[in-house]
Amino acid sequence: MMEKKLRVGILGATGMVGQRFVTLLENHPWFQLTAIAASARSAGKSYWEAVCDRWALDIPCPEAAKSLMVLDAEADAEKLAGMVDFCFCAVDMPKDAIRALEETYAKLECPIVSNNSAHRWTEDVPMVVPEINAEHLAVIEAQRKRLGTKRGFIAVKSNCSLQSYVPALHPLMKYGLERALVCTYQAISGAGKTFQRWPEMVDNCIPYIGGEEEKSEQEPLKLWGRVENGRIVKAEGPAITAQCFRVACLDGHMAAVFMKFQDGRKPSIQQIKEDWANYRGIAQELKLPSAPQQFLHYMEEPDRPQAKLDRMRENGMAISLGRLREDSQYDYKFVGLSHNTLRGAAGGAVLLAERNARRFGFGHCRYEAGDAARLLTALARKHGPGHWDHALLDPPRGGVAPEALEALLHLAPERLVYISCNPATLARDARTLSADYELVQVTPLDLFPHSPHVESVSCWQRRA
Ligand code: NAP
Repeated sequence: MMEKKLRVGILGATGMVGQRFVTLLENHPWFQLTAIAASARSAGKSYWEAVCDRWALDIPCPEAAKSLMVLDAEADAEKLAGMVDFCFCAVDMPKDAIRALEETYAKLECPIVSNNSAHRWTEDVPMVVPEINAEHLAVIEAQRKRLGTKRGFIAVKSNCSLQSYVPALHPLMKYGLERALVCTYQAISGAGKTFQRWPEMVDNCIPYIGGEEEKSEQEPLKLWGRVENGRIVKAEGPAITAQCFRVACLDGHMAAVFMKFQDGRKPSIQQIKEDWANYRGIAQELKLPSAPQQFLHYMEEPDRPQAKLDRMRENGMAISLGRLREDSQYDYKFVGLSHNTLRGAAGGAVLLAERNARRFGFGHCRYEAGDAARLLTALARKHGPGHWDHALLDPPRGGVAPEALEALLHLAPERLVYISCNPATLARDARTLSADYELVQVTPLDLFPHSPHVESVSCWQRRA
């Protein structure tokens, strides 16, 4: 049985990352955008009124979001927390204020999945790239104890530029990666800007992004750290040194990376390419809705990856790599690229929320084992009609037990999928179902030569 989608709020919905969240949540299979909030400047307006002059994406704003009323993320915290199951956070405020805001929501029992850097170094706040260190979510138990919450917690994603090189280094850690030198070339959307709003960036390159080099050097060590006594202890290495540039590119952070392995442990170029091609994280194993099928894509062309051509690979969630070759001072060098507002910000946070939803059991799918009639009758008593979205029926040849069918009609899920191995009992159950449901489609499946039977899959929609 599948429950209704989780209700989601966005704090900072009017900003560059917030706009990405709004578009990513349109038609999300598990999450439903229910509430949006920004500063007092935008509060009280409809979302479209607040954002129309600064819509920065080349895809349209989803119609359903346009009419949502913008709340004040600070003043309306209690109201908003009561409207949703969890919130994404992407606000541009002083760090202390962000820390306080995120803790307020967590203490209101509203989990926060954050893009902000304010809590990245809080010891019991996991900073997670699901393909790299999803096991750090275990620290949330200790965080909940500190905050005195049952459900509320804060989980953060790492800085956007890291996504263009840490995913490539991660599968090579087993060869004793000793040090890396990284130069990043970061797009202007990373500063929440477009060329219209930052004309000085046209035909320009700025060799400074405040705080970025420290983040690029230090945050990977937290990602590679371990959970110990209710806190995350950062890894001691590899040593990373970084320079970060802002370049005249709208979206897509690129990194030029040099890497050195411990003596005698250096893998071959072929081995590295194989490790990248074969690398799978938990996001791929669980087939999370936003996960790219292939996390790391290596491109053989000498002039790839390119920001404009490759940043949208697998909906902007995959990492593109290229130009792997020997180096005269390090062992190897290569180039990496990731989409900074998708994989690096909103998309990475949505993926993290999907992982959380699976881990903490507030996913929307429930599995119960037992006698179907008894279980469904108990659920019907507990929830009443309208709580469930979908039901999947796969009864034996005798069809669905009449008491189970009766309880199911009482639960009234929106859609039913009925897998039948016996047309006679399907016809019998269809008579009962058709009082409340319309048969939308039925597909027969001939099982010859495995069995003489014809199975069928039928899809039913509840009448309005
Ligand atoms: P942005 O475009 O400047 O948007 C800032 C958002 O914060 C707006 O919605 C703004 O609301 C809201 N805000 C400002 N003051 C507020 C207050 N006092 N109370 C509530 N909301 C307030 O910034 P952005 O680029 O989306 O970045 C947002 C956060 O994500 C930043 O912490 C940034 O470092 C981080 N981040 C950004 C990227 C990226 O690629 N852009 C990547 C990773 C992380 P109003 O519209 O009402 O002012």
